[in-house]
Amino acid sequence: MPDRDVDLFVIGAGSGGVRAARIAAGYGARVLIAEENRVGGTCVIRGCVPKKLLVYAARYADDFQDAAGYGWGLSTPTFDWAHLIANKDREIARLELAYSTALERAGVTIVKSRAVLEDANTVRLSGGEKIRPKYILIATGGAPWNGPEIPGFEHVISSNEAFHLQELPSRILIQGGGYIAVEFAGIFNGLGSEVTLVYRGENILRGFDNDVRAHLRAEMEKRGINIICGKIVKSVQCTQDTFTATLSDNSAFEVNKVMFALGRWPNVTGLRLEDSGVQFTRKDGVAVNDFSQTSVPHIYAIGDVTNRINLTPVAVRDGHAFADTVFGNKPTPVDHKEVPTAVFSEPEVGVVGLTEAEACERLGRVDIYKTSFRPMKMSLAGRDTRAFFKLVVDARTDRVVGCHIVGPDAGEMIQLAGIAVKMKATKAQFDSVMAVHPTAAEELVTMREKALSIERQAAE
Ligand SMILES: Cc1cc2nc3c(=O)[nH]c(=O)nc-3n(C[C@H](O)[C@H](O)[C@H](O)COP(=O)(O)OP(=O)(O)OC[C@H]3O[C@@H](n4cnc5c(N)ncnc54)[C@H](O)[C@@H]3O)c2cc1C
Repeated sequence: MPDRDVDLFVIGAGSGGVRAARIAAGYGARVLIAEENRVGGTCVIRGCVPKKLLVYAARYADDFQDAAGYGWGLSTPTFDWAHLIANKDREIARLELAYSTALERAGVTIVKSRAVLEDANTVRLSGGEKIRPKYILIATGGAPWNGPEIPGFEHVISSNEAFHLQELPSRILIQGGGYIAVEFAGIFNGLGSEVTLVYRGENILRGFDNDVRAHLRAEMEKRGINIICGKIVKSVQCTQDTFTATLSDNSAFEVNKVMFALGRWPNVTGLRLEDSGVQFTRKDGVAVNDFSQTSVPHIYAIGDVTNRINLTPVAVRDGHAFADTVFGNKPTPVDHKEVPTAVFSEPEVGVVGLTEAEACERLGRVDIYKTSFRPMKMSLAGRDTRAFFKLVVDARTDRVVGCHIVGPDAGEMIQLAGIAVKMKATKAQFDSVMAVHPTAAEELVTMREKALSIERQAAE
């Protein structure tokens, strides 16, 4: 494609880049998208999708056990990791093809190449070809952060490799306390591995509501996951087929795999953005305005590379809004507030809005409603697990500003509760909704007793 024909050059065919390219092409733009790995990006190839498939696999372990309480007799179930991974890989290949086909049908040209900036107006492909598009969109996503260098780091895997292990490790040590770490802890635990989770902070899921963190930790520990907080892995030694991970207190764990899930970092290395005048945030993300425009007017950036809220729906919304703004003549800012999100841990977590601590700091007067109970399905199953629901309410306006759920289907529930929170529903409006009985979700509209009324000096 000659350079004068390109209106938009998208670097990165992940969630955000694919959406932006398709919508821009739909507005008649001539679009080229470069991908150095596989079309679909992190979410489809090595993130949300393969992760959720492994979560489904792991949850069968409970289902088989719980079925007995409901009268089912089962011979001892067996599990075949290689079979699961092969099926998962087939599904990922199908999705990759579907993404490529959708791009091609929209008229987007896909280039399977790394792309970097030669200067502010020129993109260079790995074969040396140079293209001068009207607009450049940086949609290069993020990559696992390795943490400080430690002896034996070469033996450590990240989530990227965890999806392709030859066999299920019988013992695994995972370092990290974020959502990817707790999700993989649940996956390996469910599939039968002995799991140790090591996190340097005081409790897992930093940034989530403290009650959610405490509840999830207790539930994970009940399932036999060994959670060690306040420590880090200081070295990993390979001894024949096993690894010895030594922690900061010199305790040592012999395991079959060591995985680090220490967070993710914007993929900007070697892109030469700074030479083109693109500025960065303090978190090393590409700095953008509300319309995803960088400090260089014809260069835009969306999704994880901006390191704001690193979730697929955010990257997709950023990409769509960018195309509407630049090619659809509809300037569309993206609202990054009150983004509902789920952690596919065991049990699941779903949250939207402010935590209790954030609400106290911002609002001053806050009412808290919370409840913990044994979900009905667990009664005949005889499973010792509890669900947790919490509403954070602005005491001055009665508005529900936060909703936090831990328990089965929390991710499904929070999508719906998110609509009410985004619409600024009040607690009285929640309560006016008739309960759906018998469900767990009915707790959202039946919590009448305040657990706490907090009054503090508000920050704003
Ligand atoms: C294990 C895991 C689980 C996750 N689970 C969830 C979840 O449950 N829900 C959720 O919402 N989010 C989840 N995420 C996050 C989600 O995957 C990301 O937020 C999302 O993929 C970001 O989209 P993006 O378009 O910004 O970047 P990406 O999807 O990362 O796409 C960027 C693409 O750019 C390519 N690229 C990079 N540099 C270049 C270059 N120079 N030239 C050409 N191509 C380049 C990369 O190969 C990649 O394909 C998960 C992430 C991980 C790692």
